[in-house]
Amino acid sequence: MFLLPVLPYEKSALEPFMSAKTLDFHHGKHNQAYVDNLNKLVAGTEFETATLENIIVKTTGKENQSAIFNNAAQAYNHDFFWKSLRPVGVVSEPSAKLLERINKYFGSLENFFSEFKTVALSQFGSGWVWLAEDGEELKVIKTANADNPLTHNLKPVLAIDVWEHSYYLDYQNRRADYIEAILRNILNWEFAQDNL
Ligand code: MN
Repeated sequence: MFLLPVLPYEKSALEPFMSAKTLDFHHGKHNQAYVDNLNKLVAGTEFETATLENIIVKTTGKENQSAIFNNAAQAYNHDFFWKSLRPVGVVSEPSAKLLERINKYFGSLENFFSEFKTVALSQFGSGWVWLAEDGEELKVIKTANADNPLTHNLKPVLAIDVWEHSYYLDYQNRRADYIEAILRNILNWEFAQDNL
């Protein structure tokens, strides 16, 4: 049985950059629905006791298993997203070692922010933007709908949800402002470090 991930902070901890109301709907309704749907879909199947990562890798690209893939991947992606954020007021910066790699592959932290924002704006429709590891290299990639780096043999490091449900209540159509607010104020660099 898959469970709704517990948020690693209070629902108001990300305000004013992400409201408690957004988290009420996004975590309490959207994330919950993906978990509930997945539990129904895998009941009595080989996937009932599998990990989300395992289900994602085994069902990707299989048309007759697209519902399982979508709900498993969305459950995984949202858990990853909540952990990619930190409460307002908590200081978090890339470690010296991570900053060295960011400088190597993006030029600077500012360039990394800028590329992340450009990629987020270029995702047409629903999807996700990731900092991902490709061997030694760090990349910013986008994935459509429920897709994620695992299906591309990449290791996810940080995730930002760019489905409209993640920003519409707080930012309406201003996706760039939403991305900028997260990158500069509530990104969890310790979580990134743990994934390297
Ligand atoms: Mn979402």
